Amino acid sequence: MPIFRQLFDPQSSTYSYLLGDRASGQAILIDPVFEQAARDAALVRELGLTLVATLETHVHADHVTGAWLLKQRLGGRIAISAASGAEGADIRLADGDRVGFGGRHVVALATPGHTNGCMSFVLDDESMAFTGDALLIRGCGRTDFQHGSAHKLYVSIKMRIFTLPDDCLLWPAHDYRGLTVTSVAEEKAHNPRLGGNVSQADFAGYMQNLGLPHPRQIDVAVPANMVCGRPADERLATNDPGWAPLTFTFAGFWEIEPAWVEEHGAGLQIVDVREADEFAGALGHIAGARLVPLADLEKRAGDLAKDRPVVTVCRAGARSAQAAAILKKSGFEKVANMAGGMLRWRAQNLPTQGARD
Ligand code: FE
Repeated sequence: MPIFRQLFDPQSSTYSYLLGDRASGQAILIDPVFEQAARDAALVRELGLTLVATLETHVHADHVTGAWLLKQRLGGRIAISAASGAEGADIRLADGDRVGFGGRHVVALATPGHTNGCMSFVLDDESMAFTGDALLIRGCGRTDFQHGSAHKLYVSIKMRIFTLPDDCLLWPAHDYRGLTVTSVAEEKAHNPRLGGNVSQADFAGYMQNLGLPHPRQIDVAVPANMVCGRPADERLATNDPGWAPLTFTFAGFWEIEPAWVEEHGAGLQIVDVREADEFAGALGHIAGARLVPLADLEKRAGDLAKDRPVVTVCRAGARSAQAAAILKKSGFEKVANMAGGMLRWRAQNLPTQGARD
């Protein structure tokens, strides 16, 4: 059994997988997430591993890959299917290609249907396979965009994944209900879309009538993943300001989690950029926060001290991201956006002032 870790990104419900060879210390990481690159790099280092490659199961529509960032931090090569059309990869995989790590390897299986460039990765001894969004636990990836095809997905799952050994464990790219792993036998028996005697026509009918909404992140994520997660401002992404456990977002700014802000509030300048009625409204505000509506920020930036860190806050984290950019432009070095805004702060039951509830 190789070294194995399943990692989770709660914002996109994405699983990433670290596989390491014990003897050589070489490792691969499947489907890393951009915002989790610092976490993943720390884990690789703590386990004493050398990252030789990141592998993408496909061009994701719901999160940006951490492949480029991890390559900057840890080295290693970026691998994705040639059929994906993505640029900036070091290895362009074809069906049947192997990616080695020490004495172990995974085999890339073309499993198109969710996208035309989807691959599953099967461990050398067929004890585990990483199915991306082709096969999910009791489900499968959607087929209504990115050149998806219900017909191709049916063939991929039935002919390529369900022909692996029954006890082969299947590790998907996502789960939205808290399930972590399944097996070939389990999905053959219980997958409601493809298990049992479901025919190709049944499956196509099912997939055509899912009525799913357009994914929120697709317009950002797909172009970003087509360049393997390389951001527009490379220097900014790799220069961690280091005054807090900050996360760099693909959109180009640094974020900080609400819990850290709560714990370190006394040393921070918390700038709430909502309107006055929101500041006093149902969500309340953070103790000690200063109200500076976004429209006034540029002319009132001089009221803030440049030598103390500034955290910008709004309802959901979008206006405050813009505020962080305005302050950066005005010469503030230590600026971060509070991720998720007051909505996430409240969801985590952190204390507020002035809330009407
Ligand atoms: Fe996907």
